[in-house]
Amino acid sequence: LVSRENHGERTVVRVGGVPIGPGTMTLIAGPCAVETPEQTLQAAQMAKAAGATLLRGGAFKPRTSPYAFQGLGEAGLKILADVREETGMPVVTEVVDAGDVELVASYADMLQIGTRNAQNFALLQAAGEAGKPVMLKRGMNGTIEEWLMAAEYVAQRGNLDIVLCERGIRTFEKATRNTLDISAVPVAQRLSHLPVIVDPSHSGGSRDLVLPLTRAAIAIGADGVIIDVHPHPETALCDGPQALVDGDLRELAKVVRDLPPMV
Ligand code: PEP
Repeated sequence: LVSRENHGERTVVRVGGVPIGPGTMTLIAGPCAVETPEQTLQAAQMAKAAGATLLRGGAFKPRTSPYAFQGLGEAGLKILADVREETGMPVVTEVVDAGDVELVASYADMLQIGTRNAQNFALLQAAGEAGKPVMLKRGMNGTIEEWLMAAEYVAQRGNLDIVLCERGIRTFEKATRNTLDISAVPVAQRLSHLPVIVDPSHSGGSRDLVLPLTRAAIAIGADGVIIDVHPHPETALCDGPQALVDGDLRELAKVVRDLPPMV
């Protein structure tokens, strides 16, 4: 279902009316985690002012440590819905448990499946039945084939509105949080008709790498990027070191606007 061979043209996926796919360079931005209404609104306003068209923000956070901030849950989803109302930006948010898919889908415009759940087949199937577009991150230890097969689990349940997201893989290299596999973008676009975006925030894990990795994503023909922003990264409850502040985001958005996407 997701193979390009059986489909031909590459697909454009619409999220609350915003297109992601060939001919677009969609900028998705927002906080890694929803913390407070004020923080989320400020991050969304920064994102919108810079030119982002979709808002990201995690209410259910898949944290490595059980002692780390796990997200606000439904209270976070309500904040995202309020901020969507205020800014008009459709919302992309993660779901980590199959049992929460219905709840998250009732607030979200797009469901995000994170790297740690890239082969959680029950979750993928539930997301496929939720009636909302799905952003599927590549598993940090997953091959491109495994990533596409994960997408197939979603598609098999009748949902072809899937966007693939390369977010870096585990390698021996420790200088970056993950190794952005930039070659995965054209390979996935060759093998699948689905749009492919890049997450330079979670791959590099550091603010100074976000812009260069975004340039690489644009140059190689990614259909969009998803970026962490925070009004006060030094107080962020999750992934502050990779969050862009206002000025950085504007610079990045200018690069996104000025470098035309490859067709
Ligand atoms: C995220 O985007 O909030 C996230 C946790 O990303 P990943 O699944 O790529 O680590």
